[in-house]
Amino acid sequence: MATRQVTRFIAVCDLCGSSETGDGWTAHASTEQAVIDTVTEKWGDPSLGWTLAIDGRLVCDTVDDEAHRTVHEEAGKTISDCAMTVTFTPEPDEPEAPSDRNA
Ligand SMILES: [Zn+2]
Repeated sequence: MATRQVTRFIAVCDLCGSSETGDGWTAHASTEQAVIDTVTEKWGDPSLGWTLAIDGRLVCDTVDDEAHRTVHEEAGKTISDCAMTVTFTPEPDEPEAPSDRNA
């Protein structure tokens, strides 16, 4: 079996160091620009995925914290709601249901 060493570029988040996309895979390409083009869109939609900020920082969509959100929002993007994103919904304040048991 013949093998050959190749050099690939992967994207690394400037905030958290992650190389994973929100889908849990690591994009790689033969050029730096190609991998940036790949991670900064999702399913062909450039409003999703990683953000390349005006200041040159590349920010992932895997982590949903204030620092990440700020960069995405400044670029007009939103962090996609994937399985990695946890949304906390508080329970409504309801009185306890009466017991159906016959005492
Ligand atoms: Zn990140």
